Order: sequence, then structure tokens, then C-alpha cells
Amino acid sequence: MRFPGPDRSGTIELKKVALVTGCLGQDGSYLAELLLEKGYHVVGMDSAGPEKCPDDRCNILRHREFEFLEGDLKDAGRIEGMVRAARPDELYNLAAQSYVPASWCDILDVLDINAMGAGRLLEAIRRHSPNTRFFQASSAEMFGTAAPDVQNEATGHHPRSPYGCSKSFAFNLVRNYREAFGIFACNGILFNHESPRRGFQFVTRKITRAAAGIRLGRVEKVVLGNLDARRDWGYAPDYVRAMWMMLRHRGADDYVVATGKTHTVRMLVELAFAVAGIGLDWTGKGLKEKGLDCRTGKTVVEVSKEFFRPGDIKSSSGNAGKIKRVLGWRPKVDFDSMIRLMVEYDMKTFSQSTIK
Ligand code: NDP
Ligand code: GDP
Repeated sequence: MRFPGPDRSGTIELKKVALVTGCLGQDGSYLAELLLEKGYHVVGMDSAGPEKCPDDRCNILRHREFEFLEGDLKDAGRIEGMVRAARPDELYNLAAQSYVPASWCDILDVLDINAMGAGRLLEAIRRHSPNTRFFQASSAEMFGTAAPDVQNEATGHHPRSPYGCSKSFAFNLVRNYREAFGIFACNGILFNHESPRRGFQFVTRKITRAAAGIRLGRVEKVVLGNLDARRDWGYAPDYVRAMWMMLRHRGADDYVVATGKTHTVRMLVELAFAVAGIGLDWTGKGLKEKGLDCRTGKTVVEVSKEFFRPGDIKSSSGNAGKIKRVLGWRPKVDFDSMIRLMVEYDMKTFSQSTIK
């Protein structure tokens, strides 16, 4: 579908239409901003109503080329109606229950949203809008623990959580719709990516928020799980640019999106606290390990069993050679700059929020 809008010369120009599920989440909001900037008409869908939109992304809702639809990926009728009405040029499926430990709490719900939800969208495209280009937010969690040290598009799947299983199902379905029905459908195999819009339960944001709060005297300490877990952390706006590039290419394919560089949670803690102006001394081992503020001697980091995961992936690292070679994608913001950005943002906004 094309939306009419006046161009600079006053003649009628047809705008591309993109539908973004999960548009109020971290990636959905950055992607909506990018697409609006590129001149698209954006239809954004999320299960949370506009009144739940966090302040840092409400600007999207006010944009004249943005249309918000409240909807749930579990609602087949709603999904079908939405795709049939919008017949978008591009559909980005970013909605998900996205927090790995929570996926153990209501397993069937996670499968319904993350796995069947992708199926409902693909089926609606096949029936009502076969020219729509489809992007699926797949995850490095599909690889699980059986993976080699560095993972690429050919790495096998051995997921270790209902979240990972749901993403693996959707990933394979995307390939099947591409191969069996010729739908232009791509998987972005996304490694962890963060930003000041990351949810507070994820380890990066939990740490940057705590470092800011401790520095401002609003928080005493942060309690974490495995400090030796290692992740390939990138910057969310770089990753949504990769999604858009995938759907602009002449052929549909699957691509790893990663930085190829890894850091441990401990390194992340040290960096975030340093940005907040707090030097750390480590004492003890295992569950007794503590991080002390080197100026005051106060304990500001502790470890608790509560935040360890039974099937945790110890290390995750992606090889993004294919997307660099084929699409020319490059990340623009490195790990240190991203953590600095997050801590500075949390320092600035800390006093405006009650969330610790
Ligand atoms: P977020 O959790 O920030 O955003 C997901 C959005 O989807 C939220 O607004 C959420 O609402 C919404 N949502 C949840 N359930 C439904 C539903 N049933 N129907 C409609 N909307 C729903 O995730 P991110 O932006 O970080 O991630 C985007 C996508 O990328 C997700 O699919 C995620 O699994 C995937 N991914 C992300 C990675 C990362 O490191 N960020 C890594 C790999 C993959 P609410 O908050 O109210 O639940
Ligand atoms: P995930 O990789 O998508 O599960 O992203 P998270 O940010 O939730 O977790 C990244 C890594 O940090 C995992 O290996 C966790 O086990 C580890 N981790 C250590 N302590 C914590 C913590 O307190 N909270 C979270 N969320 N993760 C932690």
C-alpha cells in the first residue's frame, strides 16, 4: 500500500508503508524513528496502549506519519485484519516476550507470542499481502550452549530456554515461507543490543542504572548473578538500521547482526562504575564476591544465587561477516561509548523516576 503525501514540489508522492510490531519496545521505537526519518508512513502495533508509552519515545506517537494500533500477536483475527487493511510494503516483527528468565514462568504464553505470533503474521502475508517484505527478530539465544565459540548463520540450534525455542521455531518458519511460498522474508539473528531504552531487568541497564543511582546517593548497591557471563553487546540503533537494510536488499536472506567483540558482566560493571566516577576494589570469590567503592570502602556490588540461571549461556559471540560483506552494514557505536551513553542518560533521568 502507498500513502499519499505532498512532496516538496507540491505534487503527490506515494509513501512506503511499514508495519512495526512491538513499536513501543526498545527496538520498535528506534526503528519507527528511523523509518519516519526515511519518509515512510509507519503503522506501529503493540500490546501496551499509548498511555503506557515511556516518555523517552512518546515523540513517535505525535508524528503525523505514525499510526498506533493496540493489538496482540496472540490475536489471529486482529493480526489478519491489520495486515489486510495496511498491506504494508515492509513488516518488521519485533514484538515478543523478550526476557529469557521470564520465559520459564509461562511457557505456553511465550510460545504463543514469539513462535505462533510470527506464524500468524506470515500466514496473513501469504493470504492477503504476498508482496510484503517481512523481517523477523531472531536471536542468538537459538544457538544455546552447543554452539562453537563464534556463531554464524550456519551454526546449528540447541536453545536452552523456552524463549530460545520460540525464536528457533519462528526462524525456521520464516525460512519455510521464503522457500515454499517465495515470500520475501528475512531473519536477523540478533546478538544482545542495548541502549538507554533497554528494559531495567536486563543486565546492562540494571548496572548502568545502579551505577548512576549509587553515584547520586539514591541507591546503596546492585546485586547480580554470574559476573563471568560473556556477551557480544551492540548498540540498538545500529541493529535496527541492519533490519531496514535487510528489507531493502534485492534478495531475502538471513544475517547475523553482532559486533564480534565480547565483554564479561564484570567488565561491564567496572566500566559503568568508572563512568559514574566510582572506582571498585573486588574482594572474595563466587557468591561471596563483592565490589567495594575504593574511596568509601562501602559494598556497592554483591552476588546472589537469585540471579544465576540454570541453563545460562556462558559466552555468546557473533560473526557478522556476511551482513558486512553483502549489505555493507557496520556498527557505529562501540561498547565503551554505549555504556557511557547509558550511564549518562541514567544520571540525567534518575531523579525523575521512582524505579530502582
Ligand atoms: P522489548 O521487550 O523492548 O520490546 C518488545 C515489545 O513487544 C514490547 O513493547 C512489548 O510490550 C511488546 N509485546 C510483548 N508481547 C506482545 C504481544 N503479545 N503482542 C504485541 N506486542 C507485544 O524488546 P527489544 O526491543 O529489545 O527486542 C525486539 C525484538 O528483538 C524482540 O523480538 C526480541 O526478542 C528480539 N531480540 C532482542 C535482542 C536484544 O538484545 N534486545 C537480542 C535478540 C533478539 P510489553 O513491554 O508491554 O511486554
Ligand atoms: P540475555 O543474554 O538476553 O539473557 O540478556 P541479560 O541482560 O538478561 O543477561 C545477560 C547475561 O548477564 C546472562 O548471562 C545473565 O546470566 C548475566 N547476568 C548476571 N547477572 C545478571 C543480573 O543480575 N540480571 C540479568 N538480567 N542478567 C545477569
